[in-house]
Amino acid sequence: MLGLFRSTSLGTGPSRPRRNPCTLSPLWQRRCSSEAEALRYDLLVVGAGPAGLSAAIRAKQCLPEARVAVLEKGSEVGAHILSGNCFEPRALDELLPNWRQDPKFPAHEPVTHDQFALFLSHRRQLPLPVPHLMRNDANYIVSLCQVTRWLAKQAEALAVDIYPGFAGARLLVDKNPTRVYGVATNAFGIGRDGRPKPNYAPPVSIHATYTLLAEGCRGSLTRQAIERFRLADASEPQSYGLGVKELWRVPASVHQPGSVLHTVGWPLDMRTYGGSFMYHFRDRIAGSMENLVAVGLVVGLDYKNPLLSPYGLLQKWKTHDQIRRVLAQGELLEYGARCLNEGGYQSIPQVAFPGGALIGCSAGFLNVPKLKGTHTAMKSGMLAAECCCEELRKPEPSPEPSQYAETLRRSWIIEELYAVRNIRPGFRWGLLPGLLHAAVDTYLWRGRAPYTWKLGRADHTATRLADRYRRPSYPAPDQRLVFDILTNLARSGTNHEHDQPCHLKLKDPTIPERVNLPLYGGPEQFYCPAKVYEYTPAPPDPASKTTTTTIRLQINAQNCLHCKACDIKDPTQNIVWTPPEGGGGPRYSRM
Ligand SMILES: Cc1cc2nc3c(=O)[nH]c(=O)nc-3n(C[C@H](O)[C@H](O)[C@H](O)COP(=O)(O)OP(=O)(O)OC[C@H]3O[C@@H](n4cnc5c(N)ncnc54)[C@H](O)[C@@H]3O)c2cc1C
Ligand code: SF4
Repeated sequence: MLGLFRSTSLGTGPSRPRRNPCTLSPLWQRRCSSEAEALRYDLLVVGAGPAGLSAAIRAKQCLPEARVAVLEKGSEVGAHILSGNCFEPRALDELLPNWRQDPKFPAHEPVTHDQFALFLSHRRQLPLPVPHLMRNDANYIVSLCQVTRWLAKQAEALAVDIYPGFAGARLLVDKNPTRVYGVATNAFGIGRDGRPKPNYAPPVSIHATYTLLAEGCRGSLTRQAIERFRLADASEPQSYGLGVKELWRVPASVHQPGSVLHTVGWPLDMRTYGGSFMYHFRDRIAGSMENLVAVGLVVGLDYKNPLLSPYGLLQKWKTHDQIRRVLAQGELLEYGARCLNEGGYQSIPQVAFPGGALIGCSAGFLNVPKLKGTHTAMKSGMLAAECCCEELRKPEPSPEPSQYAETLRRSWIIEELYAVRNIRPGFRWGLLPGLLHAAVDTYLWRGRAPYTWKLGRADHTATRLADRYRRPSYPAPDQRLVFDILTNLARSGTNHEHDQPCHLKLKDPTIPERVNLPLYGGPEQFYCPAKVYEYTPAPPDPASKTTTTTIRLQINAQNCLHCKACDIKDPTQNIVWTPPEGGGGPRYSRM
């Protein structure tokens, strides 16, 4: 790893011994032993999130004889899934209409009460009318981790092969004609020095007629596909937000099951896009029903101040009187972070390419004003799977599931995203003009405005030089309501094999010290919600005659939450997130 001079674990608990995937399942034992022989499927899905699992299920519903596999980089399905989640069941009703009757479906709290407020300071707030887009009348509060685990069971019951602990590392591309014919995982058991260790297992190639990329926001294979096939040439640059979330257990006296609160304003300044959520729901933990509250803050990554910390802002937001009242006597159970797409309709790239397609947040179908992308992710997976099966039924399937783009255009996904396309760009003038415009767009134009606004630039270009800004102040950790990052990180279950090549690659190892620190104040140390990046004094060089201390970037890669913020926000796009050895990363249980 270039630019890495030392990498230490920062208190996420002892490193767990990790197994070679070939020992995990008899199927893999057989397959790993057949050396370089590739596995062969009709449909390969990369990512066991809502999009990927819905695609796999739909494919088996349409064409039961199709051979379908799903790769998942988390140690188990759901381990890397972080969401709100206020769940709109529209797509699930279409996919598995009897889900409500299944006693094994995870806890789903019907939404009873929606609130929307503008926070003005740590005390004051202005209740606002709930815009109809944000109403959750027939929706449920769920843990998306748990829902994906249930979806995985449904897929396995249909004979889908799901392989957790395997990251898709490289697209396999035929040259003539150019076409994706599968994916290669990364090798297992390579040391930090690049040499194989005793538990080494070579990369596994999985070939498929169609490969669906369901990696969620800012997928690494998706990035390869977008660049290779120039899928984003005709669309607006994608825009992102970073969501930082905590899950609390609270006393019954302050718990309002089904209550949904969204806020904008404080502690964000008026020019920084973002908002927060608080969802009350009940779930069984270790046999007893618990009163849970999911809280989170999403900050648009087009913010200007390089010294801003989304993590610090969440800690500050919790000190608002209304939030503190709920959490003060509670216990923080889990913590995590994940980016989400905010570009909407204008940023959707070309979705099909020779040999495959993008589905879910890989393509960017999140509806920003609703803060919902699960239903659109699921539906897009279903549509792509239907188109692939249509082709697979033919004696000569076409190289590209070309009908997918057209079906998508006619679906409720695009209808929904088109109607709200101007709302997020309206916030580039600040919070109050954005809110005013959103009201006009929703109630006057009703989504049919005769114009389409552009966001116009990638998020990293919005970052300004540090000398114009002061570091925002955040509350000091009291370890009851406000926590430091490392204490919280232990609640994410994050762990990576220490002795592996760093998965956070620097294109130019000198840029952190040459550009990021002097010009931008080292923004990666502030936006990273896992304290992966630290500027520290370099160890003295005995050969050097000078006594000056140099500051170097230290990358604590094993703390990484796979949120992808560094891949997006680095001012010079010097940081490239690549998948680490499969199975590493967070182990979310109810996020
Ligand atoms: C803070 C926050 C709050 C949200 N709140 C809501 C809400 O209330 N309601 C709502 O509907 N939506 C919400 N969303 C959005 C919602 O979570 C996403 O739209 C949805 O999860 C997208 O599903 P997906 O399957 O496309 O991707 P994901 O859910 O991100 O799943 C992708 C999966 O692919 C795996 N993967 C990625 N790359 C690879 C690889 N190379 N190899 C193998 N596996 C890989 C990942 O580990 C992951 O399991 C929220 C999102 C965030 C971040
Ligand atoms: S290193 Fe990057 S991807 Fe990992 S937690 Fe930090 S910002 Fe997120």
